[in-house]
Amino acid sequence: MTVRTRFAPSPTGYMHIGGMRTALFNWLWARRHGGQFILRIDDTDKVRNLDAALQPILHAFRWLGLEWDEGPEIGGPRGPYFQSQRGEFYAAAAARLLASGAAYRDYDTPEQIKADREAAEKEKRPYITVRRSLELSDAQRAACEAEGRPSVVRLLVPRDRKVSVDDHVRGRVEWDCGLIPDPVILRSDGSPLYNFATVVDDVAFEITHVIRAEEHLTNTAVQLLIYEALQAPTPEFAHIPFVAAPGTTRKLSKRELGKYRTNPQFKRMFDVADSVLPRLGLACDDALNPVMVAFYEEVGFLPEAVLNALARLGWSLDDRTEYMSREFLVENFSLDRVVKGAAALDPDKLFAFQEHWMGQRPPEVKVERCLANLVRAGLVAAPVTAESRAFVERLVAALGERIKVFSDIVGYDEYFVADEDLRYDDKAFEKRIMKPERALPLLTSYRQSLQECPSFSAADLETHLRTFIDAQGVGLADIVHAIRVATTGKPAGPGLFDCLELLGRDRTLHRLDLAIARASAA
Ligand code: GLU
Repeated sequence: MTVRTRFAPSPTGYMHIGGMRTALFNWLWARRHGGQFILRIDDTDKVRNLDAALQPILHAFRWLGLEWDEGPEIGGPRGPYFQSQRGEFYAAAAARLLASGAAYRDYDTPEQIKADREAAEKEKRPYITVRRSLELSDAQRAACEAEGRPSVVRLLVPRDRKVSVDDHVRGRVEWDCGLIPDPVILRSDGSPLYNFATVVDDVAFEITHVIRAEEHLTNTAVQLLIYEALQAPTPEFAHIPFVAAPGTTRKLSKRELGKYRTNPQFKRMFDVADSVLPRLGLACDDALNPVMVAFYEEVGFLPEAVLNALARLGWSLDDRTEYMSREFLVENFSLDRVVKGAAALDPDKLFAFQEHWMGQRPPEVKVERCLANLVRAGLVAAPVTAESRAFVERLVAALGERIKVFSDIVGYDEYFVADEDLRYDDKAFEKRIMKPERALPLLTSYRQSLQECPSFSAADLETHLRTFIDAQGVGLADIVHAIRVATTGKPAGPGLFDCLELLGRDRTLHRLDLAIARASAA
């Protein structure tokens, strides 16, 4: 038996972290067993622009290196892979069930059904379908058809038994069929319901393992009955726990985005979003935010890091192995180590994975990716000159561990803007230059003496400053902050002498002049 798994997204225009984790587990299970992974698009709810709604999803798969064996853009022997194009298969399957008596046409009106439900509720008994249409004579049925009465197709649930599944994660789950209302499989307009379409497709695609979110466990009872009615072999099931918001057991959801801003564990990601996205000309919106895969790509996480983090959401190899490559995961993934409880996304861990996988890439990658972000932010002109590249190499080296994700670099615009455009942190300017009585005169003297500094290497700058403070009879702390704010506009950054070396003589002197003038004028 060849293992065949599938992921069946609706074309929504974005790829959610939780959905991506489900897709990953399907992909890993298929790859682990040398099988196939299929992408099916559940687009029965009409979408305005299918391509636009699908591309971000396919892109996320490509970015993470999760290639699919059959599906959109590549097709395959069992296509089409879009539910909107599979209407004939659903109609044919329903016709078979009608012919075998496993399904029936129901002419009851929605009002009648509602009244049945209310009656059941009043009598405090579970609602099940009343099945009036099964009592109709052939002549009555023909009359209904002749007058064009709308009807749905329902599965005839065998009420005298139970149905069960041995779920890879949840264990044995059993349902009493006597409590299951006959599910609609085709609406009156002939369109299929999810439970029916998904089974017809999973049968047609010869899916052997259905690995999906636990919220679908309740659908499994009806789906199992549909497999039986179609006389098709049932696949194995694994209902995996949902991905929770950081530090919680609540499902990660884009509807809760507003709340996540005040979630202390999530704050780190929103800080990245707020500091970086606007500079890249992007907005933190429904499609691009820390709940979506695209966000992590845009802000410069490595796919290895995101993949590693996704794999660890509810699955572990043992109690210590954290860093796992795609190849390693393929060799070691197992369904029996998937946990039952919700698995919370952990931004700190994601940063740890990022640091690890960044360390596995050659250092030039960091420079390349930082350069690309600087170009995107309009801080470096394209095509990139050798001079710009060399400068960015030096800056990236000076920033070291400060660059955690590749877009962090755009927060260091002080190294790229014209001296006149340097923005000062007002609070820092006040605290370090305006307020201390000696700061401005000291800074002015420093500016004068700096002209005499033989070179602008970090080492010479340091020797020079030490000589300067000795001569002035002040401590290092009395002046370094003022110099930093005056030349970079910011209260913190890489080592001061590295900053000055990077800026070079002309820019440093010019910026000191500008800051001194600004402070004197205030
Ligand atoms: N399109 C369905 C969903 O996204 C697929 C569910 C399934 O895997 O059966 O929830």
